[in-house]
Amino acid sequence: MIEAARPGAFELSDEQRAIGEVARDVAQREIAPHIAQWDREHVFPRALYAKLTAAGLMGMLVPEAFGGVAADYVSYALAIEELAKVDAGTAVTVSVHSMICNAIAKLGSAAQQARWLEPLATADVIAGFGLTEPDAGSDAAAIRATARRDGDGWVLNGRKQWCTNGAYSGVIMAMFRTGGAGSKGISAFLVDTALPGVVVEKTTEKLGIHTSNTVDLAFDDMRVPAEALLGAENAGLTQALATLTSGRIGIAAQATGILAACLDASVTFAKDRSAFGKPIGAFEGVSFKIARMATDLDAARLLVYRAAALADAGRPFTVEASKAKLFASTKAREHASEALQIHGGYGYTTEFPVERYYRDAKITEIYEGTSEIQQLVIARGILGRFE
Ligand SMILES: Cc1cc2nc3c(=O)[nH]c(=O)nc-3n(C[C@H](O)[C@H](O)[C@H](O)COP(=O)(O)OP(=O)(O)OC[C@H]3O[C@@H](n4cnc5c(N)ncnc54)[C@H](O)[C@@H]3O)c2cc1C
Repeated sequence: MIEAARPGAFELSDEQRAIGEVARDVAQREIAPHIAQWDREHVFPRALYAKLTAAGLMGMLVPEAFGGVAADYVSYALAIEELAKVDAGTAVTVSVHSMICNAIAKLGSAAQQARWLEPLATADVIAGFGLTEPDAGSDAAAIRATARRDGDGWVLNGRKQWCTNGAYSGVIMAMFRTGGAGSKGISAFLVDTALPGVVVEKTTEKLGIHTSNTVDLAFDDMRVPAEALLGAENAGLTQALATLTSGRIGIAAQATGILAACLDASVTFAKDRSAFGKPIGAFEGVSFKIARMATDLDAARLLVYRAAALADAGRPFTVEASKAKLFASTKAREHASEALQIHGGYGYTTEFPVERYYRDAKITEIYEGTSEIQQLVIARGILGRFE
């Protein structure tokens, strides 16, 4: 069992283990029997999220006062990992949703918290995040979508690209330009998608994570009230980047879950499949792949738990979250390829799940900051900024 292989040096509390177990049970019961079909047919399993809400998994980062579980980051990372072991698409849906819950809990006014946190934790309302635009990805300060003051509210215009959960979100934390060019003229808004003026312009087909919804949103003269502004005016990029820093713990945990699934599948197959009169696990060409996979899984977990534990302790964790995401995503992508190789021809077929892990792993190196951007963050932490 992978659980038994969790690095012993990092002791988990009973409460942390319990949240991981809840996620594992729900994933096994509600996702595992359907995932092959959902992946093949590109289904966003909308009804699943009511079940995850009932299990407390949509309110993990919501304070108890609003019906949430108020889990710590370590528990949260364990839960995301368990979901990702069964379906990386579900894991990112919950991770993005939780990232917004966390942003509202940290940055929101009392009125915004009262308006959104309870439905997000308890009433099956899903949240999304809209920063990226067609001409602004890693260079987020280049966004062009605008918010213009209009009487006692704001008018939003522009396009947001590849918004995870976008078509199913009740609320989207989205960034718009409210001031001049560059990073200082951007504000964050909590956009109520029930209001007129925002539409799904396109649903994006992807290599993997087929159960995750990825859409482009068009805002055309969308009027939102003054209370939609999240945090201080023109501080939105800083807030968005801080939100993504904690989000990276979730994506690192997602990659770790994919890696754990690769190890499980490889161990089972290496014992079951025989060639030249022996189980293939008897050949060093196979067993050494598994040894490296298990070692990198331990290392990924320790990096994720460390970043999460620092966040829980209220200490700086930006560089540690980047290291965890960089390492876990690189290793998930590398070992998904090795797991497929261990499965030989079967690995290339849809009879085994490793081809899905192979397709799903790649995105963890791209979203919420590419691996190159993680290296920028880590290098700046070591060297400082050269202006
Ligand atoms: C499935 C999916 C879901 C997504 N979900 C969301 C979401 O919910 N909300 C949201 O806002 N965005 C979302 N994104 C967008 C995602 O975060 C961006 O794709 C990502 O940040 C990279 O931006 P880009 O694609 O524009 O690539 P670019 O920024 O154009 O980068 C292209 C290449 O250049 C490299 N590069 C860029 N700048 C540098 C540099 N300074 N140094 C070294 N290399 C550099 C990059 O690493 C990359 O390899 C999603 C994307 C996908 C594919």
